[in-house]
Amino acid sequence: MNLDDILDQAPQNSLIGNSLIITYDKIRKYDKILCSVSGGSDSDILVDLCQKYDDIDKITYAFFDTGLEFAATKEHLDYLEQRYGITIQRIRANKSVPLCCKTYGQPFISKQVSEWIERLQKHNFQWEDEPLDILEERYPNCRAALRWWCNDFASKSGGEESSFNIAYNQYLKEFLVEYPPQFHISNKCCHYAKKLVAKKYKENGGFDLNIYGVRKSEGGVRRSAYKTCFSSNDEECDEYRPIFWYLADTKNLYYKHYNIQNSRCYCEYGLKRTGCAGCPFARNFEEELEAMRRFEPKLYVAVNNIFADSYAYTRKYRDFIRKKRNNNNEGDE
Ligand code: SF4
Repeated sequence: MNLDDILDQAPQNSLIGNSLIITYDKIRKYDKILCSVSGGSDSDILVDLCQKYDDIDKITYAFFDTGLEFAATKEHLDYLEQRYGITIQRIRANKSVPLCCKTYGQPFISKQVSEWIERLQKHNFQWEDEPLDILEERYPNCRAALRWWCNDFASKSGGEESSFNIAYNQYLKEFLVEYPPQFHISNKCCHYAKKLVAKKYKENGGFDLNIYGVRKSEGGVRRSAYKTCFSSNDEECDEYRPIFWYLADTKNLYYKHYNIQNSRCYCEYGLKRTGCAGCPFARNFEEELEAMRRFEPKLYVAVNNIFADSYAYTRKYRDFIRKKRNNNNEGDE
C-alpha cells in the first residue's frame, strides 16, 4: 500500500496520522533500521506501524532479554512473528539481571536513588546526619552523592524539590538514618542487562536509525529527557520515537482500529506495564507479584529470591512513610 492508501484507511486522528506520515518518511530515508521490540503494548504499535510500509526489509526487530522476562512476553513475540511474518532477534544480556543483582546489589526505589546509595556504600558511609563540609572531610571523593544526601542542589523554579536531593523522596533520609541498609544497593542491572546490551548491538549492527517506544505522557525521568519524537546523533545512530505524542486514548483507538492484540500480561494478568518482571522500581510491584504468583509461579519464586532484600526494605520504607504521615496528621489536629 502507498502512503495515501494507508492514510485513507487510518482512523481520523491527527496523532496517529502524523505518526504514519513521519514513520513513512523515516523508513524511506534511512537504510539500516533497528526497531526495539519489548513485547509491551507500546511496541505492539511500533511493529504494526513499521509493517505498513514496503521497505520493511530495511528493518531489524530486536528484543533485549534481561533474563527476567514474563513467559507471556516471550509468547507474544512468537505471536508477533507469526502475525506479521517477521523475525524478532532475541538478544540475551551477558550479565543478566539476576547475575547483576548478585554481583553488584539490588535496585531500590529508583535508578537515581540506587546510584547515590551505591556510591555512599562504596565509601562505607555511616548514614550520619551532618553538614556537607564535615561529611566531605570524612568521605573524600564522594561529593556528588554527599550533596544528594545533604539536599545541596537548588530547588526547581516554583520551589519544587530537585530530584537530585534526597528530600525528593519523602522521609528517605530519616529512614536511612534510622534503618541503614544491610545489603548492597545498585542500579547496575539497568546498565549491564539493558543499556549496554542495546548499545553494543546498535554499534555492531551499523544501524543508522533506532525506532523505539517512549511516550511523553508517561512521565518519568527518561521520558522528560526527550523533547520531541526524533533525535539526531552525530556519533551514534539517530533515534525515532513514533508514538512519542500518543495519549492513552490514542493507543486505544489504534488498537481498536487495527485490531492489535497485546500480550497476556495486559489482557489476562491485568498489568499496566511489562519489562523486567517484578522490578523493585515499579511503584506497583506488589500487584505485579500477585499477578506472577497466580499466573507465573516459577517467576514469582525467582524474583522473590533475586529482589528479596529490596522488597523487604521497600516495604519497611513505605510503612515508615505511612507512620510518619499519620503522626504528622495527628499533630495537626
Ligand atoms: S528495570 Fe529494574 S530489574 Fe530491570 S534492569 Fe533496570 S533496575 Fe534492573
